[in-house]
Amino acid sequence: MNDQQLLRYARHLLLDAVSVEGQTRLLNARALIVGAGGLGSPVALYLASAGVGRITVVDDDTVDLTNLQRQIAHTTDRVGMPKVASAKVAMAQINPDVDVQASQLRVDAAWLAAQVPAHDVVIDCTDNFKTRHLINAACVAAKKPLVFGAAIQMAGQLSVFDTRDAESPCYACLFPADQMPEEVSCASMGVFAPLVGIVGSLQASEAIQVLLGDSKLVGQLLMVQAQGSEFHRMGIKRNPNCPVCSHPAHSAA
Ligand SMILES: [Zn+2]
Repeated sequence: MNDQQLLRYARHLLLDAVSVEGQTRLLNARALIVGAGGLGSPVALYLASAGVGRITVVDDDTVDLTNLQRQIAHTTDRVGMPKVASAKVAMAQINPDVDVQASQLRVDAAWLAAQVPAHDVVIDCTDNFKTRHLINAACVAAKKPLVFGAAIQMAGQLSVFDTRDAESPCYACLFPADQMPEEVSCASMGVFAPLVGIVGSLQASEAIQVLLGDSKLVGQLLMVQAQGSEFHRMGIKRNPNCPVCSHPAHSAA
């Protein structure tokens, strides 16, 4: 670390949980953020501010006026710009040392299979079940930790799936693909502005702790209710018959 970095990250270097060793790890780490909206905004800003060295942000959408109520990486003068380009501007303004790869596209299985193995952690900031299952399958196949977050109306959820740990469930253990509930969107249902900040900030916190080598949220589902600021957590188990993570190739690995 150079003198500027010692100053920039000084408040991290004081922490036993980070210190010089952990901060060096973060500087050398690669994170993939899928989605640059309400959840992806705080994730992108905090991973950049915290000095995660290389960050890929992927999203196919452009900034719309209706996004600005909660998607804090974007600004009024960037309406119409691709969200990933807008997020890259915001991240570079906070920390120009971070190498941000902005990809304006809708992820599919082939893109994820190529990109997920090149990253140390994946943060799911998407808003639909189909994409969530694609991301999960790619993370299970590549044995990469996945930080899951979701928020709608006044309620949110968070977990870390890390199938490097044989006991860890995957997203499909919790939400089987053949039992997908009806798709609900913020566009039709609404979402409380700070809720995506709460859940997204927790995703950033867990992603950083994954990169530092220790997340306590594996095998746990955290449920957040904005009304009353209520947090509940429950243990979640691996489904031994899960078609995604209980594939023989996975079990044998
Ligand atoms: Zn599973």
